[in-house]
Amino acid sequence: MTRFIVEARGIWKTYPGGITANRDVSVVFRSGEVAALLGENGAGKTTLVSIIAGLVKPDKGYVVVNGRRLPPGKPRDALRAGIVLVPQHPRLVDTYTVAENIGLALYAAGKPRGMKEVYSLVEEIARNYGLDIDPGTEIYRLSMGEKQRVEIIKALAVDAKLIMLDEPSTHLTPHEVKSLIALTRRLAEEGRAVVYITHRIHEALNASDRIIVMRNGRVVASLPRDKASEDKLLEYIFGERLREVESTSTVPIQATRAVNGQGKALSVEDLWVKGLRGGIAVRGVSFSVGYGEVVGIAGVAGNGQRELFEAIIGIRRPLRGRILITGIDVTWASPRRRLLAGLGIVPEERIGWGIVPRKSLVFNAILGKAVVDGKLLLDWGYARKYTEEIIKYMQVDAASLDADTDTLSGGNMQRFIIGRELLKNPRILVAMNPTSGLDLVAARRVRRELVGLARRGAGVLVFSEDLDELVEISDRILVMSRGVFRGEYSRPFNAATIAKAMTS
Ligand code: ATP
Repeated sequence: MTRFIVEARGIWKTYPGGITANRDVSVVFRSGEVAALLGENGAGKTTLVSIIAGLVKPDKGYVVVNGRRLPPGKPRDALRAGIVLVPQHPRLVDTYTVAENIGLALYAAGKPRGMKEVYSLVEEIARNYGLDIDPGTEIYRLSMGEKQRVEIIKALAVDAKLIMLDEPSTHLTPHEVKSLIALTRRLAEEGRAVVYITHRIHEALNASDRIIVMRNGRVVASLPRDKASEDKLLEYIFGERLREVESTSTVPIQATRAVNGQGKALSVEDLWVKGLRGGIAVRGVSFSVGYGEVVGIAGVAGNGQRELFEAIIGIRRPLRGRILITGIDVTWASPRRRLLAGLGIVPEERIGWGIVPRKSLVFNAILGKAVVDGKLLLDWGYARKYTEEIIKYMQVDAASLDADTDTLSGGNMQRFIIGRELLKNPRILVAMNPTSGLDLVAARRVRRELVGLARRGAGVLVFSEDLDELVEISDRILVMSRGVFRGEYSRPFNAATIAKAMTS
């Protein structure tokens, strides 16, 4: 492959509403190199890569590919120049198959092919790069991690020269992260340029040749991997806020004991649930979450956790068994009835499940809340005040209450959803990977709030692939493997024993 250099020069971007996300940003990405891009929530990382991919038009500045200036805000031109963004929230057509989605991308890249050829191309890439996927599966049947895999296959199918991965590890297990890092290394060795956006410093150190840090819309550091250290990077990421970060990280979150109130916030009895792709994913599971208690469900993704989660929140009908929320049998009840019984939900899919896109923060804030309070949707004064409360409570960085909720940065959207669910004061909160996409400070804050909610008397059930997180916040941990619970553990936890049960 010939040398490939992409330069962003003097990029400025202020969004309607007044937030300046990029301030005079200049960066260079070269073939053969993995560049990690770090920065806290809202630092401007996604904006920068979206501008390079032509998806967002900068106010000032431009992008140069091998010395040639790209027209701004033209995704097709960027794609045809070899630039592909693997987005944080996959942008695939849900009802189309994997192959059909790849076919569309090839068409957009000016390399149309017949469906038969697309099928074999997908199979070839999957085999060659160890990205296991069935080209005939519809997208809606896939997990977040698999959807991301499809996006990567898409980039390879169009033979991208610059592949920018926006928080690719968020939905992956530690083992999958290792394979992803090996894959990025290989892509660089093949002569491609790779950008790897992450919040995890150790991943940046493992994955990259160079580390770029953004803060408040500016590039504040760009240094070779061997000149970077964890301490130095933390300083660049947080600047003068570093002291605040350090002081929060020394206080143990689980300082108080579970309250052990009377009764159960959630009971699940002999539950059987069909899998996303046929088969039986949950095989006769029974457990409960008491008031005042945080229960963690650990496990390697794809062992029935997602189906169990969906059955509890009411979007997947179980085959058999019972689900009780605050003592009320909701096994066959609608999600609305579950809300009324006291359920709060933090889903993994932010857009579509967590928030309604192209609707304002106010609209999304009162979703559910209005049902629970029996308040009229038309009471806008109340709705606006409530939205302001959420924003203040979780420090959501938003241009205005009327902004479309999906214009928030990924981490800010997550803060918003969590703030909304916590302020509803649920009797039982069920969360799937609640801190994914959050920076260090925000993740810590959310863990603290989850424990705080339990200590105020609610039940909290957290599904997480991050075992360290569960060890930090849970009173009890259940390990799920192949559709059943393989073990139940109480504090103090032995992480090694739990990790072993996860793969049993
Ligand atoms: P995260 O780690 O949370 O994903 P990020 O570093 O990728 O954050 P960006 O998504 O680039 O940050 O967002 C930078 C700022 O611009 C944020 O305050 C965000 O809310 C705002 N922003 C992003 N997109 C839009 C948009 N379409 N309209 C208005 N504001 C936006």
